[in-house]
Amino acid sequence: MPELPEVHTTVEGLKETVIGLTISDVWTNYKSLYPPYKNQIKNPSFFNKFKKEVIGTTITSAERRHKNILIHLSSGKTILIHMKMTGHLLYGHYIQTKDGNTKSQAPKNKQWKNATWKPHPAERESLHDPFNRHLRLVFTFSNNKQLVLSDMRKFAKVTLLDTPTLHESDELSPLGPEPLEKTFTFKVFQERILKKPTAPIKTVLMDQTIIAGIGNIYSDEILFMAGVHPESIPKNIPEEKLQDIFSHIKPTLKKGIRFGGDSTSDYRDITGSKGSFQGKHNAYRKTGEVCSKNDGGEIVRKVVRGRSAHFCSKHQTKY
Ligand SMILES: [Zn+2]
Repeated sequence: MPELPEVHTTVEGLKETVIGLTISDVWTNYKSLYPPYKNQIKNPSFFNKFKKEVIGTTITSAERRHKNILIHLSSGKTILIHMKMTGHLLYGHYIQTKDGNTKSQAPKNKQWKNATWKPHPAERESLHDPFNRHLRLVFTFSNNKQLVLSDMRKFAKVTLLDTPTLHESDELSPLGPEPLEKTFTFKVFQERILKKPTAPIKTVLMDQTIIAGIGNIYSDEILFMAGVHPESIPKNIPEEKLQDIFSHIKPTLKKGIRFGGDSTSDYRDITGSKGSFQGKHNAYRKTGEVCSKNDGGEIVRKVVRGRSAHFCSKHQTKY
């Protein structure tokens, strides 16, 4: 699942491409009457309202909050996109086709019932990557280009919120502080972590109500760097070790951003290209490999509260 660095990378891509563009059409093939989706575009009646609200509006800015992408509109509304497991946004020139054959392009102002979308044959190669071809949502702009959501497993969440009260919404109000903000100090970190004194530290780092944006990959990497076993419990971790964890949060997330995010799974940036943080892991999915600290340890995998933790058998102490 995309974490803070991947969502950050996508938002930076949005800032370079879609700001100032006016939405002229929206298309989706998500369709579900499952009750929890009633305020998401997966629900057809919500999608109809969504469509009416967004067509004709201009994108004024984009930002990230936790793992959510926020696209602000000139109408005072904000599109919230959570990419979940396999979702990612792509920008380019797409064409609608009846059956996947680009020669049978839809006539203007006519939408085929079972239409699909494809990147224009002249578009960059990365957009043609099979990972980028599961198109579920397509925004068409006045410049005739598209912002599309590729989402193989269809878990992504897309909804519309009022911009002025955004941070009081059910989606955003329960979230913990942003770890890259200056206000995220050791004192704040310690106070947040100790709200779950007896849960495994990996689980606590990944709890979005405690700290926003850290998931499976970056929690493994942070704990590796700090030399703390993922099953350590916060109340037993000495203060200097908590300091070590804290001191590796910002650099690890910033490193993820510097390498354009992590594409171990489906994540791609807005041009359809892979990030490269997956080549920089010390622990995540390194099971059986020798520890990069050359301490005689090897990376082992253990399920901690339902999630795979990867850690060195030697230098990560359990408290
Ligand atoms: Zn080690």
